[in-house]
This record gives sequence, structure tokens and C-alpha cells, in this order.
Amino acid sequence: MSQHFLLSAKARTLSLASVARMTDEEARETFQRIRWADNGGEPFCPKCACTALYTYKTRNLWKCKGCDHQFSVTSGTIFASRKMPVRDILLAIAIFTNGAKGHSALQLSRDLNCQYKSAYVLAHKIREALGAGDKNATVSGEVEVDGCYVGGYVKPANFKENRRDRRLASNQTGKRRVVIVMRERGGKTLTFVSKTEDTSVATVANRIAPGSIVHADEASHWDILHSRFDTKRINHTLAYSDGQSCTNMAESFFSRLRRAEAGIHHRISGQYLAAYAAEMDWREDNRRASNGAQFNMMIAATMAHPVSRNWKGYWQRAA
Ligand SMILES: [Zn+2]
Repeated sequence: MSQHFLLSAKARTLSLASVARMTDEEARETFQRIRWADNGGEPFCPKCACTALYTYKTRNLWKCKGCDHQFSVTSGTIFASRKMPVRDILLAIAIFTNGAKGHSALQLSRDLNCQYKSAYVLAHKIREALGAGDKNATVSGEVEVDGCYVGGYVKPANFKENRRDRRLASNQTGKRRVVIVMRERGGKTLTFVSKTEDTSVATVANRIAPGSIVHADEASHWDILHSRFDTKRINHTLAYSDGQSCTNMAESFFSRLRRAEAGIHHRISGQYLAAYAAEMDWREDNRRASNGAQFNMMIAATMAHPVSRNWKGYWQRAA
């Protein structure tokens, strides 16, 4: 029997210990190599793309000879104005890489011995960078569509006589959201968050390329998709796959998302559900890459992402 990919040596190419042993200088070189990979790892000015730079003996900065702009290895990226040493950021990315179902901010703060607040924002910055790759993407070919309701849990009262019917809208919190997934067979995964599954149909239709074959379950709101695509339906009360249609790849993504919520984060607020879904989507799509390759991809995503509007100065605003 062939060995499972994740148990093979090919899947393990990243050593936490070697990242932890890096000097700040080596960590900076790692970021530099990946940020300016297109230029053979040689930095150029983020403002004017000029390659003629002054370096400083005592400061880890460059100054552009063309426009006088001063910048560091993380300037203009999602890690701009960082207070944490670059080595710790690199270590955080390595730890984050290895969590197949994600990594909690509390655990990250213990791993790095930093404040919970710093770990929380750092993890969200990585998530934002990972999610950015899918922003305007579409899926094509054979596409599975499905939704998974998350959050808004209402705890039943202790005594039976005090319990209310939790199926009624008036007895719900209004915080329940649905993660919609569009999963291309043998290809990429796209996710977004909606209030209900039936209000998501137009967005779903816009993100699937014309000519695709769509697989969906028996829920009646997906009927509209028949007018746009060759659509196949599977009635889950009868079977999960009938040889013609199935949404098992979509369900497999939800399995990862549900385990991340139940086992790692315990509770995901509706406000950030899309970010966690995007992270799990990235993990799903790159599950066959070695952890070393995933580590490099994560660094590349954060280096290519501009300063975050959501997360820069988050706690100053939230306090
Ligand atoms: Zn410049």
C-alpha cells in the first residue's frame, strides 16, 4: 500500500528548530529573498522600482538613490510598522504553516512568548494575505457548490419548560452565517460568507465560468443555476453520490472548517468567518505541497500584500 502523502518524507521539508535558530539577519535575508524573488532576491525601491540603493552600516534599511525613499524588508507589506523581530514573525509563519486545521492566537502567543493581542493580529494578517489570492478568481470545469452554517448557537435552557423552539427566527441570535464553497474538481476552492444560502446564489453564479458543470444538492434555491450552467443535483436524503453527481469535495472542505472551529478556535465570530474560511480554503488547496513549500508560499503572500487596512493599528482602534 502506498504511504499517505503527509507521512512521507516529501511532505516534511520545514524544520521549526532551524527557523528558531536563525539570527535576525538570516530571517531578514529569507524575507528579502522571497519578497524580491523576481529580481534574484535583490531589493529595489517599492515607490519607484529604482535598483540603485544606499545601504546603512548600522541600520537595516535601504535608501533609494532615485527618490530618497527609505524602506526596510517589510515596509509597504502587511508586516509594515512591526514591533516584533523579523525572526519571530518568520517563526510564527512556520508554526502557522504546520497547523493543518489552523493555529489559535492563544497558542501562538505561548509559542512565541508574546502578548495575545500581538499574536491575534499577526495570525489575522497571515490569513488576510492568504485570502487575497482568491479575491477576483473564478472556478471552471466541474464545480461543486454547497453551504455550511456556522455560529449563532443558542444554548437550550436547563429546565424543559423554559426551552424554546430554536428553529424559529424569533428565538435565534441573528448571528448565524453560512460559508459558501465553490470547489473545482482537481482545482481551486473559493469561499465567501452570506447570511443565508438562498441569498448567495447570484454571487455563486458570477464566480463560476460559463460552460462549467455545476454539482449541487437538492435545496430548491440552487434551481436558478440550471438556467446558467449544466447543473447536476444530488438528493442527500437518498444518497451522497449516485455516479452522476456529488458534492463530497465541498463537504470535505466543510469537514476541515468544522474541525478548525470545534478543535482550534472554539468560536468564530461572523465578522471574521470569511477570513477563517479563506485560510482553510488555502490549506485545502495546498494540502499536497510540502510544509516547506507552504511556508515559502505564505511568506510570499505576506510580502506581496500591502499594508492591511483591517489589521494595522487594530488594538489602538479597538481599545
Ligand atoms: Zn525610489
